[in-house]
Amino acid sequence: MLDVLVIGAGPAGSAAAALLARAGCSVRVIERARFPRAHVGESLLPCCVPVLERLGIDTREDLRKDGAEFRDEASGDSVRFRFAEGFPGSPPHAWQVDRPSFDARLAERARAAGAELSFASSVRSVAFEPDRVRATLANGERVEARYLVDASGQATFLARRQRSLAPCYAFGRAAVYAQFRGLAPAVREELEETGNIIILLRPAGWAWVIPLSGGVVSVGFVTRERLREDAFAAGMTDSPLLQRLARGAERGPLRRVGDFSYANLRPYGTRYACVGDAACFLDPVFSSGVSLALLGAEGLAERLAPALAEGREGDPALLAGLADRLDKAYATFANFIHRFYSTGLVRNLFFAPDPDPELRRGIIGVLSGDLWRDGNRFQEMLLQPGRRGFSWPPPPPASRLAEAEGMP
Ligand SMILES: Cc1cc2nc3c(=O)[nH]c(=O)nc-3n(C[C@H](O)[C@H](O)[C@H](O)COP(=O)(O)OP(=O)(O)OC[C@H]3O[C@@H](n4cnc5c(N)ncnc54)[C@H](O)[C@@H]3O)c2cc1C
Repeated sequence: MLDVLVIGAGPAGSAAAALLARAGCSVRVIERARFPRAHVGESLLPCCVPVLERLGIDTREDLRKDGAEFRDEASGDSVRFRFAEGFPGSPPHAWQVDRPSFDARLAERARAAGAELSFASSVRSVAFEPDRVRATLANGERVEARYLVDASGQATFLARRQRSLAPCYAFGRAAVYAQFRGLAPAVREELEETGNIIILLRPAGWAWVIPLSGGVVSVGFVTRERLREDAFAAGMTDSPLLQRLARGAERGPLRRVGDFSYANLRPYGTRYACVGDAACFLDPVFSSGVSLALLGAEGLAERLAPALAEGREGDPALLAGLADRLDKAYATFANFIHRFYSTGLVRNLFFAPDPDPELRRGIIGVLSGDLWRDGNRFQEMLLQPGRRGFSWPPPPPASRLAEAEGMP
């Protein structure tokens, strides 16, 4: 019997597998896709840099990201936040990554640490028993493990079976995105100078501009309304910046995604944990997804590996400490995103002509994913309960949790 079965080899699954295998656990990862595979989510936060270093990821092909810029092309307002101006001890940079390559490199670290990876293979069902989890794969193969890590991303394997998914409709509802290759040399130089992500404020939403190495830029439009057929073309036409950046460059395939924000209300239980998007996903305006997936995987491995060694992995309270940490992180970003959409936070606070330096540092702290230190006044403000009718996590769809009582 395996120690750990991991569903999914995205950043959460591969990082968890690498760290658990390194700690001496027998680990198998089942991944539905063949790698390298396309994936959205290219902009990382400084908080995950130490995890990447621990994993030994080679970042030479990634673009160094110094910070984040917010711009309103209509008013001409803009602000630039440099991670180096965050709290002492927080990494002064992050990375912009090409996801097919980044995810493949992470998976390779898991393999190098001793985990077994099976690609083009998917988990179809799981059954929990007092001392093990039995999984059945799509090809009929049966796998037994002492513990299950669900890192299945937005497929939310366990949450769908437990009926514990609480969707959040208060944020962006849909996105359309593409990459442009072959940027003009001057544009490339301009974008690569800081590697900053640029967030453009737009009516009913926002757009991302994420420079990648090799003269590539990723552009996406997120909207709170129904995604129009021509949303990408219209967004490009509306923006003088985007027109200038993309001039002469070749656009790759357009991709769309919708209804992506939710919380899994039961991310941990007896003999299982959900990490990364399988636990929670928030509107990507502050680029929290991959970084929280990596931190969640690290926190899980730190607690699960010794528990497996000591036979304590069946303790339902094993991950209580991790749950508290991640709850704080997701609640911080959820409230930040709520204020981004509903309170004019960017216009009133980010674009303020004379910002309070302490508050500015606090904003940079949150934008860096530096979420567990005391005394961040901005984060404390975000976490004040119950303001303006918004609460996190979202309420469960009424009938669901009762129906799922049989789950561990
Ligand atoms: C529009 C948009 C923009 C985004 N931009 C950013 C960004 O700029 N920065 C950022 O950090 N994040 C961003 N994200 C979020 C980011 O994509 C995710 O948070 C991140 O990929 C989560 O990693 P993961 O490992 O949890 O899941 P994934 O990377 O999705 O990996 C899950 C894996 O599980 C596999 N799988 C699923 N079901 C099964 C099964 N039954 N059996 C076997 N394998 C299975 C899938 O094939 C997949 O490879 C964005 C998301 C969206 C929607």
